Amino acid sequence: MTDNADLAALIRTIPDYPKPGILFRDVSTLLLDGQGFRQTIDRMAALVAPDTRLIAGIEARGFIVAAGLSYALGLGKLMLRKPGKLPGEKIGVDYALEYGTDRIELHTGQVRPGQKVVLVDDLIATGGTALAGIDLIRQAGGVVEQALFIVDLPELGGAEKLRAVGVEPTALIG
Ligand code: AMP
Repeated sequence: MTDNADLAALIRTIPDYPKPGILFRDVSTLLLDGQGFRQTIDRMAALVAPDTRLIAGIEARGFIVAAGLSYALGLGKLMLRKPGKLPGEKIGVDYALEYGTDRIELHTGQVRPGQKVVLVDDLIATGGTALAGIDLIRQAGGVVEQALFIVDLPELGGAEKLRAVGVEPTALIG
């Protein structure tokens, strides 16, 4: 695969946000670029395994990626949401972030047993968020073997953690 340097050039890095020492990779500048976003989705869509049935996006920036892929491929999408947002019966998983802690939730009954689900987010850092998403989808009966990101920060080891639970992570950048 190419190194997607054209897309990497559209992402700005903001130092010390939200805490000192964190280099925040801000995809808002990539989203602002219509052709850049289209290329991002097209290149990610080409990586999605053919037997995939659902795209699962993690709130909030993961929703943008999931919506693009879902539209491009004609697949349904699952919303993995921050606490207190889902009105129906739900399951949840708590997890540690690169900065702080969080929780994500998923409506029950929205994944059919054995359905193949691809997890997507804008970025993988420590992998805690993606692991929580994988856990949630598996608890719901889905099969997760692939995760896609715009950016991987490999020095934080998240991709390795996903491989350890049987999920192949791919990022366009990093
Ligand atoms: P992690 O759970 O550590 O893999 O963190 C991934 C989640 O936190 C993703 O939803 C990212 O949007 C966000 N995130 C973590 N670190 C960064 C960073 N350095 N720049 C931008 N977003 C980040």
